[in-house]
Amino acid sequence: MRIAGYQPLTLIDYPGHVASIIFTQGCPFRCVYCHNPELIPSTGENELSEESILEQIKRDSSMLDGVVVTGGEPTTHPDLPNFLRKIKDLGLKVKLDTNGVNPRLIERCLQLEVVDFFAMDVKHRWEKYNDVIGETPDIAVENCRKTFEIIQDGGIDHEFRTTIYSTLHNEDDVISIAGYLRPGEAYALQQVRYEKTLSPNLEQASPLDLDKIKLMIQSRFPEVKVEIKV
Ligand code: SF4
Repeated sequence: MRIAGYQPLTLIDYPGHVASIIFTQGCPFRCVYCHNPELIPSTGENELSEESILEQIKRDSSMLDGVVVTGGEPTTHPDLPNFLRKIKDLGLKVKLDTNGVNPRLIERCLQLEVVDFFAMDVKHRWEKYNDVIGETPDIAVENCRKTFEIIQDGGIDHEFRTTIYSTLHNEDDVISIAGYLRPGEAYALQQVRYEKTLSPNLEQASPLDLDKIKLMIQSRFPEVKVEIKV
C-alpha cells in the first residue's frame, strides 16, 4: 500500500459512524476538478508506512467505529484486501471509496468480507464518462460499469455519488445516472469545489440547481434515496 495521509477523525465521511480516514497514493484518472491532485501520481513525497498507520489506528480505535479508505484510488494497490483485513482485525468497520476502475479487486474484497460500506463515484453517464476522467483505455469505463454492478449485487451497504460540474454535466445527465440505481439505493450529489483542482484554471461555471435536480429524480425514481452533500 502506498499511503499518503491519515486523518484521525471524521464525523461526516462514513454515514452514521465516527471514523478516521486513510488517503492512498495514485489514481489512473484525470478528473479536471479533482481536489486531491497531489494524490494522483503513483508515488508521493511523504508516504507513510503501513505499520505506522496501523499502529496509529490501534491507538485511536477506542474512539472509532471504523476507517474510511479513500484516494487517490485505493484499488490501484493489489495488497488492499490484505490491508483492509488488518483494519478489520482491530475490530473496526471499513468504508471503501472507489472510482470503480478495478472490479476484480472489489470482488476480492467482497470474497474476503473486508468492506462494510462501499462508496463509488459515478462520474458521468457511461457514454460520456471520458468527458470527466480524461483519455483512458475503453476498458476503464467498462471496468467502472462492472464495479457498479458488482457493488449493486454485493449485498453490502453502499452509496453512489456524482460530483456535478456544470461545464460537463447537465440536468438530463444527472437524472440518467440516477436511473442506473435500484429502488432503495442511495445517490449523493455534490457540487464541484474550486479551491484546489487538477486543472489549475478550471472554468467556474454557474452551478446546476441540485435541489431542483433532487426533486426531478424523486419524481422519476421515487425509491432512490437522493442526498445533497455540502
Ligand atoms: S477525483 Fe478523479 S482524478 Fe481525483 S482521485 Fe478521484 S478519480 Fe482520481
